[in-house]
Amino acid sequence: MITEIRSASPENIAYAGRLISEGKLVAFPTETVYGLGANALDAKAVEQIFVAKGRPGDNPLIVHIAEMEELSGLVLDVPVNARKLMDAFWPGPMTLILPKRDCIPDTVSAGLDTVGIRMPGNASARALIAAAHCPIAAPSANRSGRPSPTCAMHVFEDMEGRIPLILDDGPCAVGVESTVIDAREDVPIILRPGGITPEMIDHCLGAVRLDEHILSPVQEGTTVRSPGMKYRHYAPEAKTVIFSGDEEKVREEIIRRYDAEREHGGKPVILALDNHNYGQREILSLGSVEEPEAAAARLFAALRELDHLGCTLALCEAVDTAGIGLAVMNRMGRAAGFDIVRL
Ligand code: AMP
Ligand code: MG
Repeated sequence: MITEIRSASPENIAYAGRLISEGKLVAFPTETVYGLGANALDAKAVEQIFVAKGRPGDNPLIVHIAEMEELSGLVLDVPVNARKLMDAFWPGPMTLILPKRDCIPDTVSAGLDTVGIRMPGNASARALIAAAHCPIAAPSANRSGRPSPTCAMHVFEDMEGRIPLILDDGPCAVGVESTVIDAREDVPIILRPGGITPEMIDHCLGAVRLDEHILSPVQEGTTVRSPGMKYRHYAPEAKTVIFSGDEEKVREEIIRRYDAEREHGGKPVILALDNHNYGQREILSLGSVEEPEAAAARLFAALRELDHLGCTLALCEAVDTAGIGLAVMNRMGRAAGFDIVRL
């Protein structure tokens, strides 16, 4: 199969919508990461997503809608907290877990009785959903286990020959996946941090909890609230280690390990914030400390770049977990298998 990349023009969006309505797969831009979309109500179409990605069948997909009116046909109930969050943050980088109607195939929900729903902020994504005349089920458009794609070329690297079309709308503004929230109870719980931060949710509802696996690994056999937490994810080929704590100690330890790796003939690379000095050593910048949004927008591209550089050891500075920093540390932590050195 030839994989075309086309700009997200109105004509190309209309064409992409036709492909989706015919049961085919289309990769498309959202403000978080690029998604791999299929008609959410067509089980056969959705199955192809799992094949193209190599995604485990027990990891459910998020269903994307363009208009509020679509919601009642997909879910049985919208609890009051979920409604408040939608009013505050949709369209935007937030997914809500809701009780599903029977029209949502089991392949989408991975057999759960709930479904994750999101109205994306990216106008091309919503135009595609409208053009397809159906809700679109879409996970991130990477092969399973790889860093999520934040531009069309990342999708092409992973999906060439597997899907007919990638809609290109430039780099993703947020750069990490949506915040997944279960707001069915009084205190909402964040299952996956993202562009809508705990602080924003707390401000909206006056309460918020974090799932205990956001910054720690899931032990085998543990029952998790969100199946995606179980899987190795976002991982570059290189061994990846995170260093957190006192800034100067972090810098010294990274330099020590970098130089040792070089002596052993390896290819170390540092993922660092701009204002830290590593001399001539090879760095991929995550932007400045003052701008955590930049680290979110750059992280996945940096993890992919490690592979392009032939990196053997990735040495990563931890970032502050305030705001969107929590999402950055969750993704970085999972890329490193939560190998975190505290100094
Ligand atoms: P992806 O689309 O690749 O970013 O992955 C979607 C994420 O949402 C995964 O981590 C899933 O585990 C999570 N998710 C989707 N649907 C549900 C659901 N019904 N309950 C809990 N988590 C969900
Ligand atoms: Mg994903």
